[in-house]
Amino acid sequence: MATAILTIDLDAIAANWRALDRASASGVQTAAVVKADAYGLGVAPVVRRLAEAGARRFFVAAAEEGVAVRRALGPGPQINILSGHMTGDAPLIRDHDLTPMLNSLDQVTRHLETLPGHAFGIQLDTGMNRLGMEEAEWEAAAPFVLEASPVLLMSHLACADDPDHGLNEVQLANFRAMTDGTEVPRSLAATGGILLGPNYHFDLTRPGIGLYGGRPYEGAAPVVRLSLPVIQTRSVAAGEAVGYSCAWVADKPALIATVQGGYADGIIRSLSGRATLWAGDVPCPLVGRVSMDLITVDVSHLDEVPEALDLIGPHQSVDRLADVAGTIGYELLTRMAPRLNRVLLGAK
Ligand SMILES: *Cc1c(COP(=O)(O)O)cnc(C)c1O
Repeated sequence: MATAILTIDLDAIAANWRALDRASASGVQTAAVVKADAYGLGVAPVVRRLAEAGARRFFVAAAEEGVAVRRALGPGPQINILSGHMTGDAPLIRDHDLTPMLNSLDQVTRHLETLPGHAFGIQLDTGMNRLGMEEAEWEAAAPFVLEASPVLLMSHLACADDPDHGLNEVQLANFRAMTDGTEVPRSLAATGGILLGPNYHFDLTRPGIGLYGGRPYEGAAPVVRLSLPVIQTRSVAAGEAVGYSCAWVADKPALIATVQGGYADGIIRSLSGRATLWAGDVPCPLVGRVSMDLITVDVSHLDEVPEALDLIGPHQSVDRLADVAGTIGYELLTRMAPRLNRVLLGAK
């Protein structure tokens, strides 16, 4: 097998969902955010496992993603679309029973005209300035929107991963001011918001990254392991260079392992010359450039070169690797490429 192996622990995803579910009061429902192919891990097996664990509501970014969730789960669970109701979405929303979170007066009009009586929610902008109706727009729309019985009023926090950030409380106050007294179910918290405490939970929480083992949920069970097979090893003499642009030169004789896995697999190029791989418990430095399919690793200090080296695993979480790359775990996960050989643990 010459492709890198991405092991995805579906039982760990289910355990993380249950733990985040327990983090809020018993009357609070816990949804699951599975946009971007379940953060790159494969939406069908992930939603089936989460449904088995008890999840009944799912959030995706676009209607097309919602169709994939419906196909995997069949009728029953509610599938919410964060981008709302875009031009041309009506057939998908109707035929696959999707629930758009409407973001503007335009979307409200489109939805009520094309699919009268079809379930919808409303997304409000409480300070992130990204998606949703702002206060003035909501004030104008609220009377007839509430008349049409939305299933959810939601908003999203911009800085929930930083509990001390002042915007959290500002957004909370804005959300209350815009929704108090409506008697419509409400949702404000993603993973970070759940960790901010019960004031932020309302009726429904929407964890994404925490399910997949990422920050800011430090207590998460690890979900992914990325193992790269060693294709060959070679001895290089002091002064010899390795890889494109001769970016690394041996300062003493070295043993270099060439392993399968490169930027086309999601191992981004900014890891060049910086990342560490693991031979079991022993760290081995990545040397030279990350190329499309391959990386090179200094294994001079190993007694025996193993069949594969771990880039993500027990010694290096996806977030720690993201720190090295100068990015966040979300980005590394969603870049995991289709050609990786995916091994699922705990599939239902
Ligand atoms: C992505 C997203 C979430 C999930 O956020 P995490 O930080 O991954 O938990 C929840 N709500 C909205 C609106 C989102 O865009």
